[in-house]
Amino acid sequence: MELDEALRKAADLIVNASSVVAFTGAGISVESGIPDFRSSGGLWSKYDPEVYCNYSVFKQKPELFWKMAVDMQSTMAEAQPNPAHYALAELESMGYLKHVITQNVDNLHQRAGSNKVRELHGNGSTASCMVCRSKVPISEAMDQLNSGKSVPVCSRCGGVLRMDAILFGEPLQSSVMEGSLRLAMFAEVMLVIGTSLVVSPANSLVQLCKSNQGTIVICDPSPANSHLAHVMLRGNAGEVLPRLVQACKALRTKGKAQM
Ligand code: ZN
Repeated sequence: MELDEALRKAADLIVNASSVVAFTGAGISVESGIPDFRSSGGLWSKYDPEVYCNYSVFKQKPELFWKMAVDMQSTMAEAQPNPAHYALAELESMGYLKHVITQNVDNLHQRAGSNKVRELHGNGSTASCMVCRSKVPISEAMDQLNSGKSVPVCSRCGGVLRMDAILFGEPLQSSVMEGSLRLAMFAEVMLVIGTSLVVSPANSLVQLCKSNQGTIVICDPSPANSHLAHVMLRGNAGEVLPRLVQACKALRTKGKAQM
């Protein structure tokens, strides 16, 4: 199927579905300048995540995680939402997109204007005290690290601060996971963007949607998961999703003209 035809088909599905959810992964933020940590040369090839991002290691030696965080700070701080994030926010404001479920912790969906975002892996733009749970912007933790501390601490109680992103070996928040499973189960259309679908249990969301008669639209430059897709939008999300929004608008205008 040519991209134009696939876009028209996807737009038709989205405009006519009662429930559409988007499911996003690292690929959607690559165009924002955040490299996929799993890719070769990515962050995980420099810092073994089973050590530097492991929850039980963090509880013993939080300085390891924060050492890595300092290294990735400049990349994260400079990242801006890209046209793909804005396109999803626009689909939400047009009333077509019910929710974004994301594996990303970069906060870019919210910054682009999406209001309904479920973050499976938490959010790296804030940090919380391990003792009293008070929350601060991540910049506050980074300021402490940049001024020479190896572990940032809570200004209220002196407890160790942690980034609000879920670490390896740490359970996902059950309320977020359950809500996401419910969305996937009842979605008529799931728009899957920039995820390799290798991380469990997030990948089960796509299977769950599909086995409940949901239609899967995948937007990805790689054909790796095209066997799971009813409609495949091959290309970079930053180029393809704005065109999908235009295709939805065209259908809406056509629908009104016929009334
Ligand atoms: Zn505290």
